Amino acid sequence: MSDPEELQSRLSRADAGYYTVEVCRGIATKIDRIRELKLQRNAVLLAHNYQRPEIFEVADFTGDSLGLSMKAATVNEADVIVFCGVHFMAETAKVVSPGKIVLLPNAKAGCSLADMADVKDVADRIAELKVDHPDLGVVCYVNTTAAVKALCDSVCTSANAVQVVASMSNKTILFVPDKNLAAHVAGKLPDKVIIAWDGHCYVHQQINPDSVLSVRAMHPGIKILVHPECRDDVVKLADAALSTSGMVDYARDSDATEFLAVTECGLSDLLAVQAPEKTFYRACKVCRFMKMITLDDVISSLETMQPEINLPDSVRIGASRAINRMFELTASMAAIN
Ligand code: SF4
Repeated sequence: MSDPEELQSRLSRADAGYYTVEVCRGIATKIDRIRELKLQRNAVLLAHNYQRPEIFEVADFTGDSLGLSMKAATVNEADVIVFCGVHFMAETAKVVSPGKIVLLPNAKAGCSLADMADVKDVADRIAELKVDHPDLGVVCYVNTTAAVKALCDSVCTSANAVQVVASMSNKTILFVPDKNLAAHVAGKLPDKVIIAWDGHCYVHQQINPDSVLSVRAMHPGIKILVHPECRDDVVKLADAALSTSGMVDYARDSDATEFLAVTECGLSDLLAVQAPEKTFYRACKVCRFMKMITLDDVISSLETMQPEINLPDSVRIGASRAINRMFELTASMAAIN
């Protein structure tokens, strides 16, 4: 049986006001039910770093989107993957693990950034640009639908975007869909011509320099970790611009004791739970999509085996090719974290 008081001592680091012993009593019962269902279904549960703290309690693995998908591909003994993240991530898990049942416990958990790159619009833009740039290369951030990935030469993550673009022989690159990550890559690779898709993450776009500077003014020795989906004027303030898993590793390995994680608030929750001896300040915003999946959704999903992610073969094979190209370009699984 899960112990509500032990749960409360962990979860209250994320939000002391919400995770009362009473609330944790209800959570403990649901956690026990999920553990029972996971055994019955031979399921593995993957949770993105931005999920609710109680989801981390039932996760077999936490990480960023592609890191989790790679983990899914190697969990050979599981029949079912429960992906607690958003839709494009569950699709990626299906692309790399076609033989497994992939469940996304709440079908409404989408991503506004991925939605900004419609597959037909991307196909039309590629055709248009290739008239003037026959050598055009197309790189898509992992935050795209599988159908868009299938149109790209290579996928990239926030951890390896610079490395992927640098490794491509094409001088001109269409970078889809995040314009802030595109600007970060362009700043690092002045010899490339980067044509940015006009998309952004609504969460990271809301974070401005003042919210970072005000925390730094109060805590001058603090290490500032910024996700490259943030605006350029925010990324410039970073001690390190990192993917979410890169931030977790940095905070764990650093001798510093005080950090500001500038990204979605769930990462601060995870850091508070995973590194209780360190102090994490916040300049973050909440992603409504990432908070949609609840423990009740996970229970219902494992009971009904719905909603299940399925992809047409043509999309799955095309997306798989673009993901594999990323591995060839980065030549190492270590590029994914
Ligand atoms: S934080 Fe931004 S990129 Fe991530 S799921 Fe939410 S809307 Fe999409």
